[in-house]
Parts: sequence; C-alpha cells; structure tokens
Amino acid sequence: MNKVDLSFVIPAKDEEASVEKLYKEIVSVITKLKKTYEIIFIDDGSTDNTYERLVGLQNKDKSVKIIKHRGNWGKSTALQNGFDKAGGEIIFTLDADLQDDPNEIPKFIKKIEEGHDLVSGWKKKRHDPLSKSFPSKIGNFATRLLTGIKIHDLNCGFKAYRREVVKSLNLYGELYKYIPVLAEKQNFKVAEIVVSHHKRKYGVSKFGWERNIKGFLDMLTIVFLTGYLKRPAHFFGTWGLISFGAGFMIGLYITYLRVTTGSIQYRHPLLFLGMLLMIIGVQLVTTGLIAEMIIALHPRGNSNNQS
Ligand code: UDP
Ligand code: MG
Repeated sequence: MNKVDLSFVIPAKDEEASVEKLYKEIVSVITKLKKTYEIIFIDDGSTDNTYERLVGLQNKDKSVKIIKHRGNWGKSTALQNGFDKAGGEIIFTLDADLQDDPNEIPKFIKKIEEGHDLVSGWKKKRHDPLSKSFPSKIGNFATRLLTGIKIHDLNCGFKAYRREVVKSLNLYGELYKYIPVLAEKQNFKVAEIVVSHHKRKYGVSKFGWERNIKGFLDMLTIVFLTGYLKRPAHFFGTWGLISFGAGFMIGLYITYLRVTTGSIQYRHPLLFLGMLLMIIGVQLVTTGLIAEMIIALHPRGNSNNQS
C-alpha cells in the first residue's frame, strides 16, 4: 500500500471508451493541486478492451493500479477491493463512465479539510432517464425517513472519504449504496455537496429495473443492520408483544361474548384474527430471541459492532 495524498477508486465494467479520457481529466485536476496520488481501476469482469486500455495507462504512469476481477463481481466488491488497496489520506470513488466530473475534486477536498469524514456528491441536476431517477428519488426519500440521515443522493458514485472511514467499512452485496448511513451510524461526520452530472456519452448503464427490487431489500437490511443489529430481540419483541397483546385482548372479548350471550362464537371473524395475531406475536418474539442467540455467538461478526 502506497502512502499518498489522494487515492481514486474507480470501478469499471465495459468502459473502454471512457477510461483514458477520465484518467486524463483526473490527472489534469490533481497536478494543479500539487498532491501525490494513485488511481486504482477495478476491472469488474469487462468483456471489451477496458483492461488493455488500463494496462496502456499503467505503462505510462506508475500511479495507475489495476485490480482485475475474473468475473463480474459487482460494484460493491469492486469498491471494497479498491478500498483495501488504497493508501491515500483521502480516498475518492467515482464512476468510470465520465458521468462524474473530476473538476469537482477540489470542492470535495475543501469540505473534508473543513472537518468532515465523508463527503457525498449530490447530483441535484441529474442527467439520467426518468426510469432511473424517479425510483432513486423514492428510495432516497424512504431511506431518509427510516434512518434519519439527511443525504439527498445516497447512491451517488462520487464521494470522498477520510481514510479511517474506508478502513472501517465492510461492504458486500449491494451495500455500497448505503455507505453514508453506515458511516453516520459509526459517528463519522457526513456531508453532502452538489456536483455536476453528465449524460452517459459512451457505453451503456450496467443496471436494469431489477436494481429497484434489490434496492428495496437492501434498504431493509440497512435499517436493520444500523438500527437493530445489537438488539434484535427489542425490534422483533416489540412488534411481537404488540401483536400478541392485541390478539389476547380480542380473545378476551370473544370469551366475554361467549359467557354473556351463551352462544358459541366460533364463526366470529374476530376469533380468527385474534388467533392469528397471537401466533404471529409468538413467532416474532422467538425470532428475536434466536437472532439474539446468533449475535451472542458472533459478537464481533459485523463491522458495525466496532464503533
Ligand atoms: N460497474 C461495475 N460493475 C458492475 C456494474 C457497474 O464496476 O457490475 C461500474 C460501471 O462501470 C461504472 C459504475 O460502476 O463505472 C456505475 O455504473 P453505471 O454507470 O452503469 O450506473 P448508473 O450511472 O447507470 O447508475
Ligand atoms: Mg453511470
């Protein structure tokens, strides 16, 4: 691992048309800043000439590092592998498709120097199709509501991190989208700056509609991981007790009807509702207890426990 001022971590899947241009733009910005740097490209199983282009860059500039995935392992894994290799005091991530503008780099650095640990880009004026920007708006809104984070554009690929933040992350699956939430829960200072965003000129987007379903499930994971990981019995238990309590009250009411009117109320719809609520309640409570047992066995199994 090289000690440098700035590391750039750039995942690239089939981006042969843009990696060289992106490299040039980044270098022209950093040389003005007089900072030492490394640019780590992660070739995430490209089937075009991305890798050859990257090797070409590396032959000219030893600050270019390449991590090559043997298959398409996804953006999260790409970022994580880049982070593991990054030696910079400040670590940037940006997309390889030129949608993020390297001219914004100084703004990020300034914000970090003001005392923030993670600075996240906000594509306020976004140049993506509605099919992408609309679900993203809803997702961001729901995440803000559920986690209390104040970021508008969680999934912006353009971010800058102070070194400690990156080293405390443990990304898998699609969790990279929620890095600001994970960081904030570990008491890092998170800030957001508006960045300019460009239309994709080369290549195609690597994500389709199924991203939205995955995104929703990931949001549930995040809400659970950050909010209740350390006390699942509280989360499940609360809802379990509420459900059981409601079912029990209904049961009492049915019993009362039976005693006072004397007729058997087994057809009464409330009877079934009461039974259902009690069964769900018991299940939720036991699920919570089982989760507690798993955590008791793996007390430090997740990076979120380190904070
Ligand atoms: N990417 C990747 N692996 C993947 C999908 C995407 O490394 O499996 C990279 C891609 O090359 C780009 C960045 O992640 O640099 C963002 O992807 P894309 O531009 O397709 O996403 P969008 O801008 O449509 O959200
Ligand atoms: Mg893109």
